[in-house]
Amino acid sequence: MEYISIAIDGPAGAGKSTIAKAVAKALGIVYVDTGAMYRAVALYCIEHEIVERSQIEKIMDQIQIELIYEKEMQRIFLNNEDVTHKIRTPEVSKMASYVATFPSIRTQLVESQRKIAQNQSVVMDGRDIGTHVLPEAKVKIFLTATSVERAQRRYIEMKKKGISCALSEIQAEIEKRDEQDMNRSFAPLKKAKDAIEVDTTGYTIEEVVEKILKIIQQRSI
Ligand code: C5P
Repeated sequence: MEYISIAIDGPAGAGKSTIAKAVAKALGIVYVDTGAMYRAVALYCIEHEIVERSQIEKIMDQIQIELIYEKEMQRIFLNNEDVTHKIRTPEVSKMASYVATFPSIRTQLVESQRKIAQNQSVVMDGRDIGTHVLPEAKVKIFLTATSVERAQRRYIEMKKKGISCALSEIQAEIEKRDEQDMNRSFAPLKKAKDAIEVDTTGYTIEEVVEKILKIIQQRSI
């Protein structure tokens, strides 16, 4: 049986995870959130107060990351601890973008991501899925939105979770993360040549999902 892969890349807060999850559900296939893996590595560094470059370079020797799928939900385990919720803080977001610049970390996570896509059909979201992880993906989407809109979405999300934050700070953090993600030398955030750009500014989640499902259909999957 041939498995299909759908790659969804884009900057922070463009709605990738919400949309990728909905697309995967509509197609009845697995959603893989690769950002969660970089976040788990970042959490490990924070909890163990690891800041030295030389130590971060070797960090993967101490880390085991597992993605478990339960009723359409992805849970992430770091050295056997469920860290699904713990990885969603601004501190972890910032550190994740930093650890993601290390080739030694990326190489290992990319290997796991490719393995996941070898054994089943997936919708995988991240920054380098279409360009680097799954260059043969059947459909590649590059999801964007203005940084103002992305910050507003994050702000509403955080408020709902009861986390207090300032909109201006979130926007600055998102822009800084984009800058770091786009300018790192190894597998930077970039639209793949054969990716279709979908600007989500001003559209609802349902409208974007609809648009992407149409694109997938047109590619006759
Ligand atoms: O997507 P999310 O915001 O959870 O990703 C956290 C960070 O992990 C990103 O800012 C990025 O630096 C890194 N990342 C990456 N490549 C991926 C997924 C995430 O570099 N495929």
